[in-house]
Amino acid sequence: MSNTNTPASIAAEVRDNLNLRSSTDIPPNTTTSPTAPSAAPLSSSAVTDLHDFDHKCLFCNIVAGKSPCYEVYSNEDVICFLDIYPLHPGHTLVIPKKHYKDLSLMPGELAAACMNVVPKVARSLMAATKTKDFNVMLNSGKLAGQEVFHAHFHIIPRSKGDSLSKTWCTWSTQPLKSELAKTLTAAIKQDINQSTAPL
Ligand code: 5GP
Ligand code: ZN
Repeated sequence: MSNTNTPASIAAEVRDNLNLRSSTDIPPNTTTSPTAPSAAPLSSSAVTDLHDFDHKCLFCNIVAGKSPCYEVYSNEDVICFLDIYPLHPGHTLVIPKKHYKDLSLMPGELAAACMNVVPKVARSLMAATKTKDFNVMLNSGKLAGQEVFHAHFHIIPRSKGDSLSKTWCTWSTQPLKSELAKTLTAAIKQDINQSTAPL
């Protein structure tokens, strides 16, 4: 989440930096395999079956063990590793091992599998960073600030006087207008009821 660089240049820089380091400095992906993830522990929808692994995706390559990361936790479905540009020490990313461009394309159960590990990982990273508070955040889509198009949650420890604003973004809010609220509620409910996509 660099303000000045593009994701591509960040990634290139990271890879360059990591390649220049001594082998002891390169983080081992101890629990990942050198090949693309194969079996799908979770049942998946027809839509998502197309998107198991993207060879050009930074995070798929981390999952596959082809790119290094500082892994803090993984299980069948999820891997968690330190963000290379942390907003706070301990800033961790939680990603599904299967490739989904963004949250809207993920099966609900896989999103739940990601969120399921968040409290456990957050507790441990709070202990490690001696913090008590944290934000969980997810950017879905370019306009929402997503830079790496492999869905991921951020866990960001917070401490007094850190450089982050109290709320994640500086929101410019307006009171909810009842007419718009009614129209939107009806439209959303209708779409949810008509949708054939699995939760
Ligand atoms: P987004 O803006 O897509 O929600 O966040 C992407 C995050 O991924 C950023 O915070 C960025 O620092 C991090 N990131 C980008 N490339 C890599 C990488 O190769 N390794 C790791 N560990 N983090 C990365
Ligand atoms: Zn991917």
